[in-house]
Amino acid sequence: MAIVFEGFTKCPLCNAVLDKTKEYILFPTFINNKKDALFIFSDNGMHIQCLDQHPLRKTAYLYLRKYNDYLQLLKSGFSTSGEIIGNPANMITFGLLTSDSTEDLFRYNFLILDKATVGEWGLKSEFIAIVNLFNASGKWDGVGGFNYLDYLVNLVSS
Ligand SMILES: [Zn+2]
Repeated sequence: MAIVFEGFTKCPLCNAVLDKTKEYILFPTFINNKKDALFIFSDNGMHIQCLDQHPLRKTAYLYLRKYNDYLQLLKSGFSTSGEIIGNPANMITFGLLTSDSTEDLFRYNFLILDKATVGEWGLKSEFIAIVNLFNASGKWDGVGGFNYLDYLVNLVSS
């Protein structure tokens, strides 16, 4: 969850500082790609009034809900296909990879796979090919230079 220092942290939508005079909302770190349209909301606090005037407000709220559902599934210890994984250390968690529904990568959002059975994952080569194409098109710019897509490819390949 974003950390806000009242009177210091700025709302990314209007650039004014966040304080007690105007209600604000906190978004978790729900996407690591700086090139995604929703990145402006990720790990940020912003005025509710500013968010409500933003053209992507509905999408931002939709993905906030989806992200929260995904976290619930993670906590419950289940994979996306309903297998019990239990220990979070045995999970491969995809999170939100892209909010652009026209991208092939979109189908892999919020997947939770079991490390023990990932070797039999039927979509592995397709996923790797899609990631390679996404990267080659320069569509990923990770926070701190970290490429979460490459990290996932390593996990599903091992
Ligand atoms: Zn604002």
